[in-house]
Amino acid sequence: MIAEAQQRVSGVCRSVQTGHASVKRGVLHSPIALLEQDKKHKQIARDQAAAAVERDEARKRRRLELDAEASAVRQARAHKTCRVCRARVHRGGKSWHTCPCQMFVVCPTCRASLAAAGVISGHLGVCSTGDAEEGA
Ligand SMILES: [Zn+2]
Ligand SMILES: [Zn+2]
Repeated sequence: MIAEAQQRVSGVCRSVQTGHASVKRGVLHSPIALLEQDKKHKQIARDQAAAAVERDEARKRRRLELDAEASAVRQARAHKTCRVCRARVHRGGKSWHTCPCQMFVVCPTCRASLAAAGVISGHLGVCSTGDAEEGA
């Protein structure tokens, strides 16, 4: 009784499948093709979006790099600015006081001043090189 019913169901199923197969194949094919096409288009859109994001990230990274470079240049310049007058910039003159840490310089004019002694000893208190020798 159950087997008979199952047979009937599967028989109906088969007849439905085979009955529509020839008609459905052509109709079914295009929605699948459309779906595939749609999928492809979506994939392309996704790829393009990803590429755009990638470009954006690269641009951001480049900007950060430039910022880092600029601030490094600024910092290097700051390290080469006289710590006493903060006006003159060290450009390789030998008469400057230069701490071994390379981050502390005092111009020849300030070097002779009383203020320089305090600034230099103040720097030596925090300088990583510790007991730094005199520049000259
Ligand atoms: Zn100075
Ligand atoms: Zn130092």
